[in-house]
Amino acid sequence: MNGPEITISFAPGLQLFVEPGRRHRARTAVVTDGASTLGHVVESLGVPLTEVGRLLVDGRETAASHVPGAGETVEVEEVARPQEVPGAPLRFLLDVHLGTLARRLRLLGVDAAYESEDIGDPALAALSAAQRRVMLSRDRGLLRRRELWAGAYVYSDRPDDQLRDVLGRFAPALAPWTRCTACNGRLQDADKDAVREQLEHGTQRTYDVFAQCTACGRVYWRGAHHARLQTIVDEAVREFGGAHVR
Ligand SMILES: [Zn+2]
Repeated sequence: MNGPEITISFAPGLQLFVEPGRRHRARTAVVTDGASTLGHVVESLGVPLTEVGRLLVDGRETAASHVPGAGETVEVEEVARPQEVPGAPLRFLLDVHLGTLARRLRLLGVDAAYESEDIGDPALAALSAAQRRVMLSRDRGLLRRRELWAGAYVYSDRPDDQLRDVLGRFAPALAPWTRCTACNGRLQDADKDAVREQLEHGTQRTYDVFAQCTACGRVYWRGAHHARLQTIVDEAVREFGGAHVR
């Protein structure tokens, strides 16, 4: 390119996205084409706009649609936490690699749609737009798609850290044990007699049924996994239960 040269710096939390040759430098010089927006320049350096907060040009907050001019100094900040997503109730859509995170969000009552089949990036982005869901992914290409309603990069590949990341970033209201971990449907209180046919004999004798999914009919009881799930719930509520912004 042979256009204006600008100087750009990225917040520490964005360094992992920056192309390796420019990473961990306080600031880096970039020659732009004189026509591309600042948002495009930031993305072309590897940083998804979903992760970007304020853009400061010569110290003043500036829109991503700004076309940088020669000599400008740009600071790229991280997205603020907790992040508000105006315009729709807070709900999520997770890509095919985030099944464990989807089940944990549902366990906490957070609306988390998830396709266990890989329906492809265009279909996911369209679903995000149609249902106004925040797309959660570790795929930067998916997060760059313009159709997305909103998106967020999931920073860890470990489900424990992924859950803390999403709860800390969006501060969703928590309502544990109200949503089906299998299908994201709402749970309702269940009468053991009414669901007896669906239970194995040992389950009937041993456990108390407490809920049934209104969407898929799955029955929930306090069984072998309950203690482990309760630990996940307790830790999330202790750390994030009072923090929700809506
Ligand atoms: Zn269900």
